[in-house]
Amino acid sequence: MTRGIEEVYLALRRQFRGDLLRPGDGEYADARVIWNGMVARKPGLIARCTNVADVQLAVRTAAASGVLTAIRCGGHSLAGFSSCDDGLVIDLSRMRAVSVDGETRLARFEGGCLLGNIDTATQKLGLAFPSGVVSHTGAAGLVLGGGTGWLNRLHGLSCDNVAGFTIVIGDGSVARANSKENPELFWALRGGGGNFGVVTDFEVHLHPVSSVLFGAGMCFGDDIPAIVQHWRDFMPNAPDNLRWGISLTISPQTENVPAQLRGRPAASQSLVWIGDPDKGRAFVDRALSLCNPIAVTKSELSFLSLQTMADAEFPHGRRYYTKSGYLKSLNDRDIRRMVQALETIPSPASQIELSYLGGAAARVAADETAFGDRSSPFIVNLLGNWSDPAEDSANISWIRELFAELRPSMTPGVYVNFMSGDEQDRVPEAYRERWDRLVAIKTHYDPDNFFRLNQNVRPQKSSQS
Ligand SMILES: Cc1cc2nc3c(=O)[nH]c(=O)nc-3n(C[C@H](O)[C@H](O)[C@H](O)COP(=O)(O)OP(=O)(O)OC[C@H]3O[C@@H](n4cnc5c(N)ncnc54)[C@H](O)[C@@H]3O)c2cc1C
Repeated sequence: MTRGIEEVYLALRRQFRGDLLRPGDGEYADARVIWNGMVARKPGLIARCTNVADVQLAVRTAAASGVLTAIRCGGHSLAGFSSCDDGLVIDLSRMRAVSVDGETRLARFEGGCLLGNIDTATQKLGLAFPSGVVSHTGAAGLVLGGGTGWLNRLHGLSCDNVAGFTIVIGDGSVARANSKENPELFWALRGGGGNFGVVTDFEVHLHPVSSVLFGAGMCFGDDIPAIVQHWRDFMPNAPDNLRWGISLTISPQTENVPAQLRGRPAASQSLVWIGDPDKGRAFVDRALSLCNPIAVTKSELSFLSLQTMADAEFPHGRRYYTKSGYLKSLNDRDIRRMVQALETIPSPASQIELSYLGGAAARVAADETAFGDRSSPFIVNLLGNWSDPAEDSANISWIRELFAELRPSMTPGVYVNFMSGDEQDRVPEAYRERWDRLVAIKTHYDPDNFFRLNQNVRPQKSSQS
């Protein structure tokens, strides 16, 4: 233990109500692990907070000592920002309370909540918060970066649905941020990530959704580029109620796929219709009649089933590497290139995820929140997912090479929550015309860059990188 972290430990020990875990302590080994198995760091101290006072104490003590500090909600940062070697982790996993007001359709949840905690609480009243698609993802990191998921074409991004934040800033004081109190901070927290402090409480708007119409199917061979072209041409005029996404991947070894097609390149489609199922059926049926899909399923799903459907695809502890970008349009050359890349994909669990933003999320004005580009609707996420460390190089190279080939067609901009840890040079690109305003707010609220383990907006004149 370095002297700095030892001092933090000794100072916290007196008043901290939660758990203080050091290397060698019983729970430390499990507590230090985060979702991405590529990032195996060993913090000097994990401070598992139980309440706002614990967070204040940890922030104040660590900031005074200059100890490197990571903030952790769900630990799902693709870049591994929620841990660090030798420093302090402020872990919010014991702060997962959710309260729901059915009349005002508002919920409040604590800064350590996972998406599943919120869905479980809100669904008791038939209400839903627009968030992400995997229930074990942390809500804080997701919402602060923006938050895309099944509901965002109809109801906007997660950050568009925030009414207010409670935050512990770098001097340890508590601030509220909403349209009336600290409005600049409120603007920055909707897309600007964990740059400004530790959010201990989110107040969010909910929407009545308890079930959806769901469809899925897989296309093979020449039908792969054809279905992507249909999707590309259809989505710009699609109703907001429809979210249709395609993953280019390797078909699974499951019984619903004919034996001769298992383990082959495939375009895996998923369609979700939110709203009156009778109105949605025609859209789902039509999409799943194109390009000879197999393993077709159509059903009405509970919202909770939808929200947990992809959980097993992205388990904790595997190795993940990601690159992402936006396109105004998707040309045939790039579609061909992505389909070709499936021939050399090093891991069958990796995928090229194609989604279309648009809808309510795109109708929010560019300067209303700090969230990056809303005007380029096509999103390409290259998601590397494998288990053997010996295959790191092959998997990372495959992603980097494909990204380099697609890059000339991409518009500047990237969603900060889908960036890896080696892309700090792209952070200004992620925010574009919002960058200078973000730097000014960062300089005001965190002039010493205490909160720097994130896609970092450096304050002016900070010496901390
Ligand atoms: C399996 C999986 C599925 C995903 N699906 C989606 C999706 O559908 N839609 C989508 O938009 N994104 C998705 N993402 C990306 C996700 O938004 C980011 O990984 C996000 O950072 C996860 O948040 P977290 O709280 O779990 O992360 P953590 O690793 O805990 O933290 C991430 C960042 O947020 C900061 N932070 C965490 N908690 C707080 C807090 N309370 N206050 C201030 N800062 C904080 C941390 O310092 C860190 O910089 C997914 C990621 C994974 C791994």
